[in-house]
Amino acid sequence: AASRLAGKTILITGASSGIGRATAFEFANASGGDIKLILAARREAALVSIKEEIEKAYPKSKVIPVALDVSKLPAIDAFVENLPAEAKDIDVLVNNAGMVHGVDQVGGIAQSDIDIMFQTNVFGLIALTQKLLPLFKEKGKGDIVNIGSIAGREPYPGGAIYCATKAAVKSFTETLRKELIATRIRVIEVDPGQVETEFSVVRFRGDKSKADAVYNGVEPLIAEDIAEVIVFAVSRRENVVIADTLVFPSHQA
Ligand code: NDP
Repeated sequence: AASRLAGKTILITGASSGIGRATAFEFANASGGDIKLILAARREAALVSIKEEIEKAYPKSKVIPVALDVSKLPAIDAFVENLPAEAKDIDVLVNNAGMVHGVDQVGGIAQSDIDIMFQTNVFGLIALTQKLLPLFKEKGKGDIVNIGSIAGREPYPGGAIYCATKAAVKSFTETLRKELIATRIRVIEVDPGQVETEFSVVRFRGDKSKADAVYNGVEPLIAEDIAEVIVFAVSRRENVVIADTLVFPSHQA
């Protein structure tokens, strides 16, 4: 599998923490360091320290940190157009940036939360995918990995908007995969169950004690568990599409 990853250029959104960050390390590890990683998120300083860590551990690797807010569509255009020449030939897009803000019932959801969740989880993912599709079509291959959620399959009270965004990701991803059937452009969805990352902190608007309480008495996945599944899917033979995978911790029903 390492040789299938060798020399590839991987773009990961939401790479500053959690699953995206772990996925960067896992690609570096699984490729034996023979990899180019473009890491995008809003917190550029975090990306720079990930770059330093990866390039130190894997001297053959090259990490390019780029500030990007996927919720702002013009920023996505500018991001792709301004990529340095060495980062333009992308082989794998991991659409991982995503968030949930608030746990309110439908009657009480702020418009600003609706906007930011759809802009980040759905509109940003669609725009970046559309922007890179011509490149993949020109090369005749490439991987698009979208991070969905159990929330897109099983909605729950207090999560109407987040669940709707992830259902939209699922529908979009499945449609795209069908449109690209018989090409070597693979469309892959990985749906995590409960993973301990900064996700819950954002969900509870920065209230760390409420976020921690989510994991009382349960053993959630760690970000590396999802990273391993993403890298496994990408490192299959070109004819193998791990189309849609649900990954739960053992306690989750
Ligand atoms: P984290 O909060 O740890 O990571 C989210 C990442 O997304 C951060 O790097 C953040 O970076 C980035 N991000 C958020 N908003 C934007 C934006 N507007 N533009 C660019 N980047 C952005 O959470 P996870 O690692 O858990 O989340 C990763 C994905 O996994 C998300 O799509 C989430 O919905 C999904 N998921 C998570 C589950 C869980 O239990 N943790 C369960 C199911 C799915 P920055 O703030 O620097 O921009």
